[in-house]
Amino acid sequence: MASIALKNVSKSFGGSAVIPGLDLEIERGELIVFVGPSGCGKSTLLRLIAGLEDVTGGELLIDGRDVTRLPPAWRGLSMVFQSYALYPHMSVRDNIAFPLKMAGRDKETIQRKVEDAARVLNLQDYLDRKPRELSGGQRQRVAIGRAIVREPVAFLFDEPLSNLDAALRVNMRMEIAQLHRQLGATMIYVTHDQVEAMTLADRIVVLNAGRVEQVGSPLQLYRKPATLFVAGFIGSPRMNLLGGAEASKYGATTIGIRPENLSLSTTQGTWRGNVSLAEHLGSDTFVYVDVDGIGTITARSAGELNVSPGDALWLTPDETCLHRFDAHGRAINPQDS
Ligand code: ADP
Ligand code: MG
Repeated sequence: MASIALKNVSKSFGGSAVIPGLDLEIERGELIVFVGPSGCGKSTLLRLIAGLEDVTGGELLIDGRDVTRLPPAWRGLSMVFQSYALYPHMSVRDNIAFPLKMAGRDKETIQRKVEDAARVLNLQDYLDRKPRELSGGQRQRVAIGRAIVREPVAFLFDEPLSNLDAALRVNMRMEIAQLHRQLGATMIYVTHDQVEAMTLADRIVVLNAGRVEQVGSPLQLYRKPATLFVAGFIGSPRMNLLGGAEASKYGATTIGIRPENLSLSTTQGTWRGNVSLAEHLGSDTFVYVDVDGIGTITARSAGELNVSPGDALWLTPDETCLHRFDAHGRAINPQDS
């Protein structure tokens, strides 16, 4: 398993810089997730690492070796796409075996490796089926199997679960996490879904317009977002962000408070408003409260809460959980002021 380093890697299409220049070190065996909104350059970055696109500038190192000019096949990486890219006329067995056949491996080795991969992915009973006879999740497992048999130095996943329904996505997410533990493999996983990023990653790289906003473990990003962008992107429901006088009180341009860091009362508190919507999930209640002069604030209450639209409610932020940001959208750390 390999380490991967990007040194001032940039990419322009025509005149427009999609990736202005990016540095990143990925450790051996790490599961790193690139997350960011659609169009921020996640796939482009992955394709640069894979060698499917040429860099405009900078260097790519795999285990310290410069691979910037090497064709994809020589980089030792396997990529798994959202679209599965299976051969419809071939059986599962032949789909998984395909890269080994192309590499001219002998029959016995091919059979052993295909069966090993099928066992890891729970596909033993499906080896003689065609892709059309499989569910979406099984098809994606075949695509992953094809990546596994190549024994890559790292796996690259580009939104592999986006075509699956919600329940299946949760299942496959757990399977990929398990696969990572089992193989101890270096994996780069691209998604626009922050929940997927939070649940899978050893470290998350938050991308915004081709730039790295922040790199850190899921809980580091949750607890200490370095920028307004990260604060708004990580966490669901989103962090409440308030400007104006409320922020000035705390010496900030913007303050942020997560929905679960607000306490609710019918009699007293910091902000008084009226409930515009209450979402009763059973495990949690999300309450949207319209506060005059501030706007809508989202609060999260564990368990069931008996509130309805129109109810008057007081909200009080837990000040120890307040996030402060300056005029550039950068977090103000307590030790800075
Ligand atoms: P993401 O995967 O984060 O949704 P992409 O990496 O696919 O984003 O795209 C980033 C930006 O680069 C987009 O604005 C997209 O239109 C542009 N882009 C990607 N590939 C090409 C290409 N081959 N030619 C021109 N522009 C491209
Ligand atoms: Mg993409």
